[in-house]
Amino acid sequence: MGSAQSGFILILSAPSGAGKSTLARHLVSQDPSVRFSISTTTRECRPQETNGVDYFFVSRSEFEQQRHQGNFIEWAEVFGHCYGTTRQFVEQSIAHGDIVLLDIDWQGARQVRAQLPANHVVSVMILPPSYPILRQRLLQRGRDSLSVVEQRMAQAEAEASHWGEYDYVLINNQLERAQQDLVAVVRSERLRIQRMEHQIREIVG
Ligand code: ADP
Ligand code: 5GP
Repeated sequence: MGSAQSGFILILSAPSGAGKSTLARHLVSQDPSVRFSISTTTRECRPQETNGVDYFFVSRSEFEQQRHQGNFIEWAEVFGHCYGTTRQFVEQSIAHGDIVLLDIDWQGARQVRAQLPANHVVSVMILPPSYPILRQRLLQRGRDSLSVVEQRMAQAEAEASHWGEYDYVLINNQLERAQQDLVAVVRSERLRIQRMEHQIREIVG
């Protein structure tokens, strides 16, 4: 529970394969007040994914309809597919004092920052230790064909080039260390004076 000011949006962006999903899953498992925002997408559901858990999978016309209705707080086209974040979920969670985790790209991050007060948004760019290691991880993950891996590598530089727009940069070298660092970012951000005001007033008056 918390006041309206205690909740915030936590944006995670990264070149594909840098470890964003792995780190996001760990954070959600460690911290019950972090709520993962399930995006809506027009891309096809992968075999290991579940509709309504990983994404809401919709047709392009359904996506367009929701977009026109203003249902998305941000949306972007990534790898030829549309992705959008549900406005209602984000706004309700923050009002409830929760931390809303958005796994979105730099275009979405920009739109969110433009719409909300700065102290409502914390953004983290996750980077791999190097591009050769990124390629190795994409290949080891075994999810994509060689041509898709090459496509993701080409996109990686474009995503990473926006690191300067983020509040934190996390280099995912040792997984355990990166996991701890992400938890530390959230713990520190919670202690910001603006988010503690309600509790401070109860003590100090
Ligand atoms: P993303 O969500 O950014 O595309 P994933 O979380 O799927 O990336 O990670 C890509 C692959 O790299 C996965 O196979 C994952 O297990 C592995 N991985 C993630 N972090 C590390 C790390 N620090 N060291 C080695 N492998 C890692
Ligand atoms: P994937 O299809 O591999 O799950 O995701 C591809 C990319 O789309 C990732 O960089 C991911 O962060 C981004 N993405 C996923 N959901 C959203 C969203 O709702 N909005 C935006 N802008 N990007 C998203």
